[in-house]
Amino acid sequence: MSNASDRRALIERLRTRFGERTVVTDAAAIEPWLTDWRGRWHGAAEAMLQPSTTDEVAAIVRSAAQAGVALVPQGGNTSMVGGATPPEDGSALLLSLRRMNRIREIDDDHAVAEAGVILADLHQSAGERGARFPLTLGSRGSCTIGGLTAANAGGTQVLRFGTMRSLVLGIEAVLADGSVHNGLRPLKKDNRGYDLDGLLVGSEGTLGIITAVNLRLVPAVRERAVAWVGVDDPQDALDLLRGMQRETTAVEAFEILPEDSLQRVLHHIPGTRPPLPGNHRWHVLVEAVAAPRDAAAPDLLLQQLLERAIAAGIVRDAVIAANERQAEAFWRIRDSISEAERASGPAAQHDISVPVDAMPRFMIEAAAAVEQAFQGTQASGFGHLGDGNVHFHVRAPQDRGAEWIRNEAPAAIRLVHDLVTAEGGSISAEHGIGQMKKEELLRTAPAARIQALRAIKHALDPCGLMNPGKLID
Ligand code: FAD
Repeated sequence: MSNASDRRALIERLRTRFGERTVVTDAAAIEPWLTDWRGRWHGAAEAMLQPSTTDEVAAIVRSAAQAGVALVPQGGNTSMVGGATPPEDGSALLLSLRRMNRIREIDDDHAVAEAGVILADLHQSAGERGARFPLTLGSRGSCTIGGLTAANAGGTQVLRFGTMRSLVLGIEAVLADGSVHNGLRPLKKDNRGYDLDGLLVGSEGTLGIITAVNLRLVPAVRERAVAWVGVDDPQDALDLLRGMQRETTAVEAFEILPEDSLQRVLHHIPGTRPPLPGNHRWHVLVEAVAAPRDAAAPDLLLQQLLERAIAAGIVRDAVIAANERQAEAFWRIRDSISEAERASGPAAQHDISVPVDAMPRFMIEAAAAVEQAFQGTQASGFGHLGDGNVHFHVRAPQDRGAEWIRNEAPAAIRLVHDLVTAEGGSISAEHGIGQMKKEELLRTAPAARIQALRAIKHALDPCGLMNPGKLID
């Protein structure tokens, strides 16, 4: 841990070299970036460094390494696991990449975006060229390319295009000693040993600072169809997906939510309306798309597939959005679930995956097991059924909110993670480990995985100065 005088001397040196725009010490300007999105962790940092070029990042990392001062990289600060919040003791400095927000190069099939480019801005730039970056999530207006890459984020299009890992063609990053790894030029074949770019994807800022990423683009969507579907249970939802996937590759998103999640959104998010008349125990949002050269019209395709599923008794009711406005309204419901859940009271939240075919049974059995073990709680999962990944929330008993979270939630979390582990699943499907799941990772992961993670961390960051206290020590 750095001492205060080393830190202050470092801040002074950096301020003399880079100026006040790059080295922010005004406490009021730093304050909003010291708390995580969920408001669970609050850190301290005497300075927030905001470099605007890779050379500046390299110089900062080199100086910090010499002074033994830790750095916490931060993009949009939308981490769900406290990954970008500095330690409470003020021993680290914040390194914001938000000023590195240029798109250096963009073509029909790839874009080189700096770490601070906001996802929605990349979507727009790609769209202007008739292309698209096929990854999206609820935080797209704030989250950055660097944060998405460091978290190996997923979202609602993983079904067809995979997570960030499958969209990253190459990475430029400053390593812990200040040296620059330039992997931006995409090589289809490169067998010079370990995959350094691959290690940086999902490294949560613990191995180096990502400064730019070469990303795969795909053709823009010519037309999309978005349907809202009512089903009886998650198994019917998965049968619907499997049936659709047998017929077409046009299905890009397939999101499940229980009736109670829908009700929370309708209650807390202004302007939202139920897409279907009547109540259904479970709901599915499906999106099918056509690219410019695809022949099929996605709405006709969806209509046919849904009619068949209704006839087979898998689907209770369905509606296809009549226009873009309605399609957006359906998506707004899905994208607002996290916000509505946050507004509706304390809950123990899990971001878990199990093999896709096991997920419908898991969702029902795990909810029943948790509600039985923790009387008065209410448990359910929503999200990316087709990826075998749901966000599984255990809501505190109504009259015991904060007290339950303090005293009983840790045991409920362990129970959920034990059930996941018994299914051969993962306790972090897409949000990462951050500070939230460090202990649970140690408790549930096989020894071989933990040893390998530690060895990699030690090899690339021997002094532990890259995002200390996150992922693995
Ligand atoms: P930050 O929160 O700033 O940082 C995330 C992690 O990356 C931290 O460990 C940080 O230290 C590190 N980091 C940031 N920038 C760099 C860099 N340049 N170099 C090295 N390390 C860096 N996630 C999903 O996967 N799927 C979802 O569907 C999803 N939905 C969300 C919905 C909402 C409403 C919100 C608020 C969040 C959601 N998230 C989701 C989580 C979050 O948006 C993603 O993890 C996102 O990738 C974080 O990007 P960021 O720029 O905000 O990164």
